[in-house]
Amino acid sequence: MPDLSRNIRYIKGIGEKRARAFEKLGVRTLGDLISFYPRRYEDRSRVKEINSLEDGEYACIDVYVTSSPVLARLSGGKSMVRFSASDDTARIDITYFNQVYLKTGIHVGDHLRFYGKAEVLGRKRFMTNPLYENAEKEGVYTGRIIPVYRRNAQLSQKQIMNAVENGLKLCDDGIEDFLPEDVSARNNLTDEDFAVRNIHFPESTAALSSAKEKLVFDELFLLACALKKMRSDNTKISGIRLGETDLEDFYKGLPFSPTNAQKRAVAECMKDMGSGEVMNRLLQGDVGSGKTLVAAALVWACSRHGLGSIFMAPTALLAEQHYNTLSRLLAPYGLNTALVTGSMTAAERNAVRAGIAEGRYSLIIGTHALFSEGMEYGERIALVITDEQHRFGVAQRARIIEKAGNPHVLVMSATPIPRTLALIIYGDLSISILDEMPPGRQKVDTFAVDSSYRQRINAFIRKQVQEGHQVFVVCPMIDENEEIGDVISAEEHAAYLKKELPELKVALLHGKTPNKEKDKIMNDFVLGESDILVSTTIIEVGIDVPNASLIVIENAERFGLSQLHQLRGRVGRGEAKSYCVLFSDNRSDEVRARLKVMCETNDGFRVAEEDLRQRGPGDFFGSAQHGLPELHIADLGTDLETLSNAQSEAERVMESDPLLERPEHALLGAKIEAMFDLSRDTFN
Ligand code: ADP
Ligand code: MG
Repeated sequence: MPDLSRNIRYIKGIGEKRARAFEKLGVRTLGDLISFYPRRYEDRSRVKEINSLEDGEYACIDVYVTSSPVLARLSGGKSMVRFSASDDTARIDITYFNQVYLKTGIHVGDHLRFYGKAEVLGRKRFMTNPLYENAEKEGVYTGRIIPVYRRNAQLSQKQIMNAVENGLKLCDDGIEDFLPEDVSARNNLTDEDFAVRNIHFPESTAALSSAKEKLVFDELFLLACALKKMRSDNTKISGIRLGETDLEDFYKGLPFSPTNAQKRAVAECMKDMGSGEVMNRLLQGDVGSGKTLVAAALVWACSRHGLGSIFMAPTALLAEQHYNTLSRLLAPYGLNTALVTGSMTAAERNAVRAGIAEGRYSLIIGTHALFSEGMEYGERIALVITDEQHRFGVAQRARIIEKAGNPHVLVMSATPIPRTLALIIYGDLSISILDEMPPGRQKVDTFAVDSSYRQRINAFIRKQVQEGHQVFVVCPMIDENEEIGDVISAEEHAAYLKKELPELKVALLHGKTPNKEKDKIMNDFVLGESDILVSTTIIEVGIDVPNASLIVIENAERFGLSQLHQLRGRVGRGEAKSYCVLFSDNRSDEVRARLKVMCETNDGFRVAEEDLRQRGPGDFFGSAQHGLPELHIADLGTDLETLSNAQSEAERVMESDPLLERPEHALLGAKIEAMFDLSRDTFN
């Protein structure tokens, strides 16, 4: 059995340097290397006759050289070698640029196979710089289906191919299959060894498709098992049974009446929490649909039974905002709320800790700091709510739940995704959807403009502020290693706006602003002390400033559709008519199409569908979105049938052997562990 954990540095032809280049592609071990699947293939297996070549096509030909190569020196130190060759059907002229050695390396009578782009001019045929190999031997680069890999500047296709080939040689004893035999048999899958070899170097197109089928199944099966295993701890296990609660008492005290969708979502949660089993529910609702109120109702209900709740937010900024909103909402009912963040002093934290120990709080809001060393919650926590699910990994969520001692869990997400796909990603979570906006909500008018509108938009900003409103200006986050080009940084842009609009108060918030300062700047903006808040995307999630009526997004081409929609959701939260301006000088069709969708609709589900359609599922479900490990070969958008087969097989296996203790499941268990380790890295 090959040692798949072995570093690729020791493989023939890969040294220190190349190993480092591979590492950038995520390939470190022999196992990584053989599962570094090609992105696509070039079919060079079919050899064509010269007289059937078509202009512009890439093809393989099998020929004898018929004239001695002639070398011509060109200007600028360049050179050209030409000769002709033929098969039984016709002649072809072959030209190489800057490969002087071919003058003596190729001889009349050589039997060669060429692969390249054919040019046909009347009855003349040409190939320029084709690949060539000895036709008497089995081909490496010609005469077969050739893999094309994802690569970087330090590695060529040939080098990757050679490395994979040498890697596979080390596995000559056979690559073990982690898929249980009966699963393989039921689904007519080939064995692992055949699949891995053929995914790289397919013997035929048929072999390639069965290899692919097998590996896609493998990947989805593994994912399904991993999710099952992770959730086996918190599904269908008994939880605190919440007694009858009359929500009307809560609704009566609110400054507005809840929407029907909000009431329905609350009722669904209450049913779960009263069932005796632990609740695992996802609350999906577009920005502004009022998810916070649903959370508040549940916290209130728990408090009526003497039980506490925890609310977890992805950033300190959001935690604080939720603290402000929720403590204000709950105070009239006599409920106390605490805030826990990483920037608290030891004394502050101790005070909160003492309060928790005394059972003073119905609700504890915070960031990851909630689960840091020394924070204990005892038996009193009935409910954990996490906001903006996609910021937390699946594994991370599991750890949180463990620490709080199997409470009910509500996950809130503002990323609308089609329901079928939500079921896959969130697996065993039940789903409630807020499909109704609070009354009086107006459409946010959206405009896509280029820099020629700069002055007009500046005037518009001024007008909004004069009318008593506030303005968000968002600039893209610039990666330090990135060439900046014509992207505007938040710092530069804030300086520009201060100069253009000297009478307005411009505040700046960016990734490097220290936390304490960030909170103050944000608070000042919420209190109306500044007119314009220039920031990077840290305002993306959840921030609520009802007085803001305009959001201007710079370099809008750099944002995805869903992200633009999230950003736009920062305005249109109050009474005033609100606007969104998307600045972009990018003229590409793709960008235009994206911005057009924004101008046409305010419906988050439509935006999500368009996003899915334009970017394809691979990107849409990029691992950062949902916390699942990256898929190498399967595609959640197109492999749905395989997915459903893989899921039912995974269910069968995990039900018969939940801890994967049987010897035939040992390899599967190890693979799942490795998968968890990987996603842990990604999400810490
Ligand atoms: P999100 O779902 O984006 O988290 P929020 O919970 O922040 O939305 O609610 C958005 C705004 O709508 C808040 O200002 C909130 O007070 C208000 N709101 C929520 N529910 C209602 C309702 N039923 N009627 C009127 N306003 C509401
Ligand atoms: Mg929110």
